[in-house]
Amino acid sequence: MAHVSVPMYWRTIPQRYRMVGQRCRKCDAVNFPPKGVCKYCNASFEFDEVKLSGKGKVHTFVLIGAGGAPPEFAEQEKAGGMYPVAIVELEEGPKVIGQIADVNPKDVKMDMPVSTELRKVYSEEGVIRYGFKFIPEELSR
Ligand SMILES: [Zn+2]
Repeated sequence: MAHVSVPMYWRTIPQRYRMVGQRCRKCDAVNFPPKGVCKYCNASFEFDEVKLSGKGKVHTFVLIGAGGAPPEFAEQEKAGGMYPVAIVELEEGPKVIGQIADVNPKDVKMDMPVSTELRKVYSEEGVIRYGFKFIPEELSR
């Protein structure tokens, strides 16, 4: 991942937004976001914390256009028209859903390498919500 200085707000971001998964001690699969029970073997409650690289590739994607967007994407839709939402398979194995940012929707391809960044997703009543977005690897610094 690109080196960025850690902003002040980082420490206040809820833990669920950190790129930390859990490696299952039983089946070795990485769960992300962290769960109470391993979703792969469904039988283990014991995990080791694992820092995720945030790198992965586009497993599948859809282009979301006018109308029908879930509320957390509505502001984006108004601002920028059509945009891509992808399921990205991380290097460590977990699949994560999120918007692909900084890209022309027409340029999104299957297996495209991306990295994950924490970005402002939308604001509501003055509260800024953060979430993961994927950035094409060639654009990440
Ligand atoms: Zn497991």
